[in-house]
Amino acid sequence: MYEHIIDELLIKSGENVLDLAISSVKAGGLPFVAVIFNQNGEIIGKGVNQVAKHLDCTAHAEIQAMQ
Ligand SMILES: [Zn+2]
Repeated sequence: MYEHIIDELLIKSGENVLDLAISSVKAGGLPFVAVIFNQNGEIIGKGVNQVAKHLDCTAHAEIQAMQ
């Protein structure tokens, strides 16, 4: 039933996480990223792993995306 929506989100999130990961690596960071969508398929959060940058073991991408 929701397969087409899930496919769209996977494509959209794939593009976004790739862009984020490439930007992060180019900036000297790690390729660990997260994207959060709302129920309408809109991006409401993006995050990049900043553990090393901020010396903060809680600064995972998914946590950054929620903040
Ligand atoms: Zn994590």
